[in-house]
Amino acid sequence: MSDIDDGAHWPPPGVDFSKPSMPRAYDALLGGKDNVAVDRELAEHAAAQIPGLKEAAQEQRRTLIRGVRFLARDAGVDQFLDLGSGLPAAQNTHQVAQEYNADARVAYVDSDPVVLTHGRALLAENGNTTVVTADVRYPKQVLADPEVDALLDFRRPIAVMLVGMMHYLSPDIAEEVMAEYREAVAPGSYLFFTSMVDTGIPDQQELARINRENMGVGWARTPEEITHLLGDFELVDPGLVFPVLWRPDQPVDPDRVPTDRRLTVAGVARKPD
Ligand code: SAM
Repeated sequence: MSDIDDGAHWPPPGVDFSKPSMPRAYDALLGGKDNVAVDRELAEHAAAQIPGLKEAAQEQRRTLIRGVRFLARDAGVDQFLDLGSGLPAAQNTHQVAQEYNADARVAYVDSDPVVLTHGRALLAENGNTTVVTADVRYPKQVLADPEVDALLDFRRPIAVMLVGMMHYLSPDIAEEVMAEYREAVAPGSYLFFTSMVDTGIPDQQELARINRENMGVGWARTPEEITHLLGDFELVDPGLVFPVLWRPDQPVDPDRVPTDRRLTVAGVARKPD
């Protein structure tokens, strides 16, 4: 039995354990324990269709850690808006950032209320973090959220993160939503994202299709379409690459990246001064 079944007031309002939920299914894919049978079934179904999917999810998590490390340690960013933050994993944005700057502030945003419940427990003793339930597709609401507004100073650089999230913005709204986040932040701010990608490998569109079939959302874009969503933000080295190639801890040969590590791309882009 999962530990999320514990507690007298469970499930929290808005949480439905009869259907898979995106953060819980992703947690199951990562080998976490904050999920129930329907989530595990979906994770196993997807992993059976796309060989290497579990390892790809682990790599995406490692990329999140490397990206936050770069932002906090090398780029000097001390404010993070983590959109589509998901359930807490082994190392989360605030834990990585606060390793380099104890004063780093992190606002976690997710539309699934289960994230709030778990996030609150993890963050109870951390005054520099908050977790709010909001829909990333409505930037005005996210940015006007009283907890986000109280924690983050939008006059100074912020890292807006859409790790494992940007591909959930549908084609009809993605451009406008991304533009609103880009415009809301000060020069010297960053976008840090991973996104399902279409470089011609069939599993890339298959992964997006499985997401749409089960969650209603998920689009694999071409590298050009992804870059377009960055507006005038400038990609930092190494640019838009498969996650395993984004500032890896050990050198990785770009010509030897296996197909299952080519399902998404990662990038960090800076708003010009
Ligand atoms: N960012 C985390 C990571 O990289 O480990 C979690 C990624 S998980 C694949 C995607 C998360 O985005 C889920 O927790 C889901 O609930 C959230 N999400 C999807 N669409 C959203 C939306 N429109 N608004 C807020 N959160 C959303």
